[in-house]
Amino acid sequence: MVTADSVDPADTAADTASVRTRRGTPVVPGVAHAPVLRVATEVDPAAVAALRASAPTEEEPALAAYDAAAAAVADGYVARAARVEGAAAQVLTASAGLARDRGLRSGVRKQLRGGADLLGAVESTVDTFVALFEQQGGLMAERVADLRDIERRLVARLAGAPEPGVVLPGTPVVLVAADLAPSDTAGLDPAVVVGLVTERGGATSHTAIIARQLGIPCVVGVVGALELPDGEPVLVDGAAGTVELAPDADEARARVRVDAELRAATAAWTGPAATRDGVRVKLLANVADPASAQAATSEPVEGVGLFRTELSFLDRPTEPTVAEQADLYAEVLAPYADRGQHVVVRTLDAGSDKPIAFATHEGEENPALGVRGLRLAAHNPALLAHQLDAVAQAAERTGTEAWVMAPMVATRDEAAAFAEQVHARGLKAGAMVEVPAVAVLAHRVLEVVDFLSIGTNDLTQYTMAADRLASDLAHLTDPWQPAVLHLVAITAAAGQQAGKPVGVCGEAAADPLLACALVGMGITSLSMAPSAVRAVGAMLARVTADECHQVAEAVLAASDPTAARAAARAVLAAAEGAPQEG
Ligand code: PEP
Ligand code: MG
Repeated sequence: MVTADSVDPADTAADTASVRTRRGTPVVPGVAHAPVLRVATEVDPAAVAALRASAPTEEEPALAAYDAAAAAVADGYVARAARVEGAAAQVLTASAGLARDRGLRSGVRKQLRGGADLLGAVESTVDTFVALFEQQGGLMAERVADLRDIERRLVARLAGAPEPGVVLPGTPVVLVAADLAPSDTAGLDPAVVVGLVTERGGATSHTAIIARQLGIPCVVGVVGALELPDGEPVLVDGAAGTVELAPDADEARARVRVDAELRAATAAWTGPAATRDGVRVKLLANVADPASAQAATSEPVEGVGLFRTELSFLDRPTEPTVAEQADLYAEVLAPYADRGQHVVVRTLDAGSDKPIAFATHEGEENPALGVRGLRLAAHNPALLAHQLDAVAQAAERTGTEAWVMAPMVATRDEAAAFAEQVHARGLKAGAMVEVPAVAVLAHRVLEVVDFLSIGTNDLTQYTMAADRLASDLAHLTDPWQPAVLHLVAITAAAGQQAGKPVGVCGEAAADPLLACALVGMGITSLSMAPSAVRAVGAMLARVTADECHQVAEAVLAASDPTAARAAARAVLAAAEGAPQEG
């Protein structure tokens, strides 16, 4: 959740309807200019009132009606999943599973036995699940929108009303809603829905995931989004996270045109990455498993900058054997052998938002600040030793150059002990910069490791003391925060001084505008979701190294994320306006 911001001096904060520019969390870059279409996701109130007056209370018939409604809702999701692909299909299939969930059904039965009618039973069971999901936080909390969507559809079925949904006109619109469920967003036509704006939701919500897949410019967590008047034109900037009401039409059209040019350049970009004057920057892939490692090779990447090993073991009750791990890592490394590219393997980042049964410490009061990442090795040295043995075996077997880095390093001594074990196996050793202490003393840590990789997701969380998954803290968990940018600059400068590579592998690396600043600070590689690589590469190809330095200086001088973004854009706009060489 972020602040509504007035750009027009005539506006006042109290006069919310007149606020010209609203801000949220930027999720999918791109500029859209079209009238608002406010989406109501409510069931016909008259039908709900009629159901409330006559909902069955007897357990058997009530449960039979529930089963029929749940099956119909689940079938609807399955049918929609069949019409779309990728993440959208996965999200809808997951919703179908949740609609059929036995826990939901037994919750409803319990409520009926306690004397509730069917409608009350459904509502309070869903409320209980919502509270549970919210309490668990993180990714579970992001699924609340899915649960509410299931509830609305169940109620519609029970009331004999049509299931709620988005009805689109034939002309381009910007969809505005409190939140959008997967069933609303999956299968949207990007030619009609040119922008998405929601009042709730964070960067990992389903709206965000699906908008990313469809390439629809999207801003979430926009306070007061529902006050945007239906039918009025707005300008959505999915990179800046802004929604401007009634923009100047000529200016808006010009911004849409420049954005279209950038998108075309992005589609045509084939790598390898360099600034316009030829300074090379390695663009690398973030991968999770053999399938994503293989898939990344179809994008113009120069290797893997972050292999999140823990994601393969989230559902493992016991530690996999060294042989099992070596097989898995070899599958990830293999596609990069013939390409002569390296893979950065991150050792288990278990704990906090990624609990792993065989590693995580149970019952910590504050797991984000607890025994997670490399800290686990102090309590269980064999866990790290086994993993390093497995990586060494996989590197040997495939011939791929493997670099190994540790997550959640906090001190030089921790980094030194880790590096010693990695070097003993003939591999390059690195530390992630996620804890501000390591950024501040990066020059000392660089004395003992071969490279650093800045995890801006956690570095931002720990610098700003704000949970990275809390959507109402999105204004703080923004890597454009000056304090975060200064820590990145300190780390990059230490790398330049030491002559050792310093990369960025958090989400910040995927932001084309921020990438210019990072390169200007001296960052040598950017690792990101493979789908983001072309946009970053195309952006870097437009700017010179000197312009990147100017962007870095401008963002470091800015007082807040909004000013930093504006300053970066102003430098680039001035550079584009100036006669260009090279
Ligand atoms: C980070 O913290 O920026 C990072 C890359 O690690 P993860 O997102 O897996 O915590
Ligand atoms: Mg991290």
